[in-house]
Amino acid sequence: MIQKVLIANRGEIALRIVRACRELGIKTLAVYSEADVQSLHVQLADEAICIGGPKSSDSYLRADRIISAAEIADVDAIHPGYGFLSENAKFAEQCESCNIKFIGPKSKSIKMMGDKAIAKDTVRKAGVPIVPGSDGPVESETEAVKIARKIGYPVIIKAVAGGGGRGMRIAHNDVSFAKEYYVARGEAEKAFGNGAVYIEKYIEKPRHIEFQILADSHGHVLHLGERDCSVQRRHQKLIEESPSPFLTPDLRKRMGKAAVKAAEAAAYENAGTIEFLVDAKGNFYFIEMNTRIQVEHPVTEEVTGIDLIKEQIRVANGEKLGFDQGDVKFEGHAIECRINAEDPARNFAPSPGTIGLYYSPGGHGVRVDSHAYSGYAIPPYYDSMIGKLICTGSTRKVALERAYRALSEYLIRGIKTTIPLHRAIMADPIFIEGKATTAYMEDFLGRTASDLFT
Ligand code: ADP
Repeated sequence: MIQKVLIANRGEIALRIVRACRELGIKTLAVYSEADVQSLHVQLADEAICIGGPKSSDSYLRADRIISAAEIADVDAIHPGYGFLSENAKFAEQCESCNIKFIGPKSKSIKMMGDKAIAKDTVRKAGVPIVPGSDGPVESETEAVKIARKIGYPVIIKAVAGGGGRGMRIAHNDVSFAKEYYVARGEAEKAFGNGAVYIEKYIEKPRHIEFQILADSHGHVLHLGERDCSVQRRHQKLIEESPSPFLTPDLRKRMGKAAVKAAEAAAYENAGTIEFLVDAKGNFYFIEMNTRIQVEHPVTEEVTGIDLIKEQIRVANGEKLGFDQGDVKFEGHAIECRINAEDPARNFAPSPGTIGLYYSPGGHGVRVDSHAYSGYAIPPYYDSMIGKLICTGSTRKVALERAYRALSEYLIRGIKTTIPLHRAIMADPIFIEGKATTAYMEDFLGRTASDLFT
């Protein structure tokens, strides 16, 4: 049984894992970079070990140092959180071979779903619809143009090794394709060290709707409903909610079944997410599987009452899931706003620095997952997300009104944040009507005066 967990991450997710472990009576070891000495997860974990310099490549991405720390502190499991090494099959394999449990899927499943071409092929064979596209990476511009024409413009060029919305370019005709193809390859090479790209039909104004999967090591796979993550800027999620205002009970059922089939095809274990794009007619297409816990997992926790981090630990322990699909009950509505240290009035410029006053909202139906506090200096080296505000209500309307209220109470002085932007969205009629697609943010930013966001 797991007695002590190393948390190979930082920020709010590290704190989230500390909290789950503490409630389970499991000891925690934080690892941190020199830039994160002040971080709350370091202070709240039972033990902490510094693993290197501020850059992620010198610390949170150093599998060797993390495994050494695990051995020195005698932990029996590692929780990777999201980002960093969470979807690194080699790291999961190293943990497995050192007899340290990796709290996540088997390295084989990570490898399979981490290669988007193999992932698409695997789920397609299991009968799950995928976006039409190239059968795998495209080798040359000539071949790529041929495929693009065959699929029909517009097309999207995506990095095989992509993630976090990076390495994606859209082309509307042969001329723009020739340019975007090389831009995409260059970006992919720079961001992921792998320039391989593939091509998909570009679905116009889709919704991004994903299903949370939970699977144990005894072959039980079930889903915990969906999250609508259509509010994105540059393919990066800003707001997520559950249930989706778009899904009908019938579509939800069909997509849930498809998600379970996709996870089964990957012989999946632990928590994971199946992402779909859904067009205006309700056609849905698998785009990828995320083989880790996601930033937006709390909205699922709030509507199902299931603690996903605890379930991840139980599954890693080899326990059977304590419930069946029919036992999963959905109640009310939950919405999450990502609070980033960015200035939405100045094209989302990063705004690191020291927080002056920090006051987080409270009251009925308000949850804040954040590692920030008064006097905390946000290091410039990492992701700009400094917290998540999750509001729940009996209906979507109540949840949105609550989010607006909580955002008005949330005080973070000394730096710029996305709080005012979220407040404006919560009051926007199109969003309130549940009509947001992935094209929403561009439209919203285009028609809203940016001084509303300061
Ligand atoms: P990543 O791995 O970088 O997160 P995804 O494949 O999950 O990339 O796509 C992220 C976002 O990009 C989607 O939520 C959607 O907004 C957009 N996107 C991806 N593929 C398509 C497509 N074929 N058509 C339209 N939009 C797409």
